[in-house]
Amino acid sequence: MVAQQTRPAGPGQRGQRPGGGVSRRALLLGGGAVGLGVAGYLGWENAPDRLRYRVPGVDRPREEGAVDHPGAEWIPASEENWRRADRPYDYGIDRVVVHVPQATYAITLKVFRDPGHGAASHYVVRSEDGHVAQMIRELDVAYHAGNRGFNERSVGIEHEGWVDRPGYLTDTMYEASARLVAGICARYDIPRDREHIVGHVEVPGTDHTDPGPHWDWDRYMRMLRDAKAPEPSPSEPGGTGRERPAR
Ligand SMILES: [Zn+2]
Repeated sequence: MVAQQTRPAGPGQRGQRPGGGVSRRALLLGGGAVGLGVAGYLGWENAPDRLRYRVPGVDRPREEGAVDHPGAEWIPASEENWRRADRPYDYGIDRVVVHVPQATYAITLKVFRDPGHGAASHYVVRSEDGHVAQMIRELDVAYHAGNRGFNERSVGIEHEGWVDRPGYLTDTMYEASARLVAGICARYDIPRDREHIVGHVEVPGTDHTDPGPHWDWDRYMRMLRDAKAPEPSPSEPGGTGRERPAR
């Protein structure tokens, strides 16, 4: 997705300015809109200001460095490349979007950390060893699919490489990605099938072709169905550090 991200965001991208970034004002308005939905329900009009910050999506506690995928390395994307949300409570998550960024792992991290890039995905997987970087929390909406509705409902994963260089698609990377996606599917109860696990090329309205013709969907989906969902680490609430069988 990296190669073509300089084009302006489409008209459907509320709150994103041309170039794909999001203004502070739009971000605040967006947050307010989320709050208003809950506001009437709670008698919002009379609520003290401080309560506004308790509305889901506005201020769910976040711990710096926390990750959703056990073992992932937290490398935060620029805040201009995603927006705060409270998924799955405000937007349900029912899709995973598979990308190949047309770039190395290092360059992909670099552009996602660049506030001018206007796009980023939740995860980036490295080709040679399957190392996983998490750059955006799953509760937040990442700008990765070029389609607002898909951004809101999906988790995006970049796989180091190019659509025309199959050498980057290593067994190790497929396996690491399958394990990552198994965890996502378990967290949000997403079926492990091709309706729910899609390529960027399959997102409606996209002009991107990734993950490209060399991406081995049959093999990947087989690995995904066989993969065990990683349990939360023992340090997290409810975590045991053990794995449970694939669903
Ligand atoms: Zn893409």
